[in-house]
Amino acid sequence: MSVFRARALVLRRAAFREHDLKVTLLLENDVCLEALAPSGQRSQRRFTAGLSPLCLYDLGWSESRAGARLEDAQCLQGWPGLSKRLGPQSAALACTGVIAAVAGPAPSQRVLFALLLELYETLSAPDADALAATVRFVFEALDVTGHGAVLDRCARCDRPAPAGVTVTLAADAGGVVCRSCGGGGFRMTASQRAALDALLRGAGGAIGPAHYDLAAALLGGVNAAAAEALARSRPLIVSDGA
Ligand SMILES: [Zn+2]
Repeated sequence: MSVFRARALVLRRAAFREHDLKVTLLLENDVCLEALAPSGQRSQRRFTAGLSPLCLYDLGWSESRAGARLEDAQCLQGWPGLSKRLGPQSAALACTGVIAAVAGPAPSQRVLFALLLELYETLSAPDADALAATVRFVFEALDVTGHGAVLDRCARCDRPAPAGVTVTLAADAGGVVCRSCGGGGFRMTASQRAALDALLRGAGGAIGPAHYDLAAALLGGVNAAAAEALARSRPLIVSDGA
């Protein structure tokens, strides 16, 4: 029996039968793996930290006709800073849930893996802004999975949307929709759009609840389960940034 090894993040973890766990893992080498961890609910020696999310694991697994089976998982790195404040911790878990929802069919798990690692690092800093980090993460995840938001022109007719004007956006169009194309349900002022643009360029900007709601709506246009992961954590994440 060959045992494969890779670094991995736990996206989902659920009790299975009396002692086992079923886990969804995002591997560093472009694989999203569904696996069974026999005795995963009991063995802290084979599976350190109980295969919890928000840990980077060195993973050993084998393949059989029944599917992937975890042999062991050793925690290589945790982010203690994440457990100190509710906002960043909720953001990290919500964004992990977003990736769990979109990673399967995504073309580039390798990039999603790197994005998640970077997010945990950002959020574990003492002065982390959970709201801004979450908004940025969602827009980047949309980009990586081929659903990048259109913010500078109409997503339907390509008419440019100059930086200084208020625009409306529609989740089903994936971005700005001009008035002649029917407009959208989300209104965004010039300064809100400038702040978002600055955030996505890594420059930082005044990110507020409206940005969060827009990110969740755009994500919902792609994957309802991913948007739900964000909706559940909204009160904790938004109050962290306000
Ligand atoms: Zn248009």
